[in-house]
Amino acid sequence: MKGQIRKALSGFYYIEAEGQTWQTRARGNFRNRKITPLVGDQVIFESSNLTDGYLLEIQPRKNELVRPPVANVDIGVIVISLIEPAFSYNLLDRFLVTLEDKEIEPVIYLSKLDLLPDNQLAEEIRTTYEQIGYTVIATQDIDDARRQLFRLFAEGVTVFMGQSGAGKSTLLNKLVPELELATGEISESLGRGKHTTRHVELLPVAGGLVADTPGFSSIDFLEIEAGQLRHLFPEFVRASVHCKFRECMHLKEPECEVKRQVAAGEIAESRYADYQQFIEEIEKRRPVYRKKNK
Ligand code: ZN
Repeated sequence: MKGQIRKALSGFYYIEAEGQTWQTRARGNFRNRKITPLVGDQVIFESSNLTDGYLLEIQPRKNELVRPPVANVDIGVIVISLIEPAFSYNLLDRFLVTLEDKEIEPVIYLSKLDLLPDNQLAEEIRTTYEQIGYTVIATQDIDDARRQLFRLFAEGVTVFMGQSGAGKSTLLNKLVPELELATGEISESLGRGKHTTRHVELLPVAGGLVADTPGFSSIDFLEIEAGQLRHLFPEFVRASVHCKFRECMHLKEPECEVKRQVAAGEIAESRYADYQQFIEEIEKRRPVYRKKNK
């Protein structure tokens, strides 16, 4: 049978297929092949009843995240605060680059709008990123946020991420109150004072699936090559058609369209500054990374 892993817990994989949930275990050969089944995986399994199945095969993945461990992610909602912690273009660009690299569609959610006296900063950020083509959600009204986000959920598997203190869990619980209920139920069955077992689950929300565990909060670029970075800034990709050199890195090359657009104010200076800084970071880290792999 074919299905999708929706939950992984204590060595069991819960597969959704034919409108039912099947509890399965992975066959030993998975460990030999060094493949760990992930929530979000499309799989082939066999089972004669709902509780004693065997997971046989994992279909090729579109992408995978480590934190939370989810495969085949379509949308990443970046929850980033405007204040406390202070808004950082640099941090937002790090998230965006990471999602672009995994071919996950980013959605920017600006939190803590209510703690600022006006919308000036939010509008500035919105202008910068909508121009690039990103969806920016900046609203104090949770119903409005829900409407905007639920439209996106329908497209597939969504994971929330963002820096600590940005309010990812709070937002998730407000958006999908069933989540809070689910967490509460688990806590009760395990008894008070015990921590809930760490697991990830994909929950059906608004026609799509949402991971109930918020994702990574800090980011490094070990996986990304310096030469790859320019492909992860969509506005650079568009401009680069007019760069003199086809393989232009938009750094020291003459007649670079990206640099021209930055000078003309068509590409945000903050984006270009972050690009340069990320390149430096990647190049500094590379020797260390290689050493570790030896
Ligand atoms: Zn260029």
